Amino acid sequence: MQLLNRVLAESMASSSWIRRMFEKGLELKKQFGADSVCDFSLGNPDVPPPNQIQTVLEGIAQHVIAPLSLGYCPNAGIPEVRSAMAQKIAKEQETSLSVNDIVMTVGAAGALVSFFRAVIEPGDEVIVPSPYFVEYASYCGHFGGVLRPVPSLRPSFDLDLKGILSAINVSTRVILLNSPNNPTGVIYPLATLKKLADAITEINETRERPILIVSDEPYRVFAFDGVDVPPILPLSPWTCVVGSFSKSLSMAGERVGYFVANPQMPDHGKLIAAVTLTNRTLGFVNAPVIGQRLAGNLTNAKVDLTIYNRRRLLMADVLKNAGLQFQTPQGAFYFFIKSPVPNEDQFVNALLDEKILVVPGKGFGAEGYVRLSYSIDEAIIERSRQGFKRAVEGLRS
Ligand code: PLP
Repeated sequence: MQLLNRVLAESMASSSWIRRMFEKGLELKKQFGADSVCDFSLGNPDVPPPNQIQTVLEGIAQHVIAPLSLGYCPNAGIPEVRSAMAQKIAKEQETSLSVNDIVMTVGAAGALVSFFRAVIEPGDEVIVPSPYFVEYASYCGHFGGVLRPVPSLRPSFDLDLKGILSAINVSTRVILLNSPNNPTGVIYPLATLKKLADAITEINETRERPILIVSDEPYRVFAFDGVDVPPILPLSPWTCVVGSFSKSLSMAGERVGYFVANPQMPDHGKLIAAVTLTNRTLGFVNAPVIGQRLAGNLTNAKVDLTIYNRRRLLMADVLKNAGLQFQTPQGAFYFFIKSPVPNEDQFVNALLDEKILVVPGKGFGAEGYVRLSYSIDEAIIERSRQGFKRAVEGLRS
């Protein structure tokens, strides 16, 4: 019997490594108790939302029994929220923006899916630097888009500009960047982005269907060591930005994100209208209204980044102490470390024996590495110290 769509059935069979490790973690926690497992596999932001969120939520509650307070809202979002977002993103992107440049979406995920629905024809290619966030393949694949990974430079994980430009062909539709990056933690420097953007602007002069550069920025506030995340919009008219409040306000379950099209893009109003429509017809209809109001009132707030920074430095110390090779990430909340043996499964299994859960690099399109999320308590990071050391020593002996 064939109950499911064939492509989906195949993708379920090779199901996400992150999910698999999550299930493994549940099993270990049941067997040995939650306190004895060090789970670095999931990127669920656990630092509490900023304090002001409570007052804002209480303010929303005061009006909740008014007619339509929880009703459908305009598909592109609540006008005052879009206006607050325009101001916030204009500052971040050093570009003048209005409400008409922004669509409120169901997370960054909803923004990407709605965007792909609006621009992708079956067979179109989406260039993505690898390693990359694994869900991208499904987001564009739903509409017949094909991911075209281009390995990033080693060991820096910066963009391979030559590689990206030589991957472009008639089917290329989108270049999808993610900075700060999941899983590498890299923040792409302005000079590299500018070179890429200049090249795309030039290439688009002769193309009937322009290539769009999309910057996926849900980790924008997670930038450490004084590094800024450069804006993409001033670099080329052919740019869009997506983002969300999932990580910056620890509001991942509330599902609020946004899509921005560069106002300098020819016909950009058509793209905004199309994403507004696809946001509706894909069944999202509109971003959750309580979440939108929360985000719209908290555009200048963020979680306590000093907590994340302490964890980052502690994690680096634990890994260094174990003799592992890695670059201390400047952004997001992940480490992407080189496996001490060529086959990372062996490393993952050695860590599992120590009740430490990480995700194999192949889950992100880069074998020989593993990803750790440090969105977990410092005490757990510290507790993993000896386990990492023993696992590495065991593999090297
Ligand atoms: N893009 C990247 C790189 C992510 O890591 C995630 C979530 O982890 C998303 C998009 C989706 O996030 P959201 O919760 O905003 O939909």
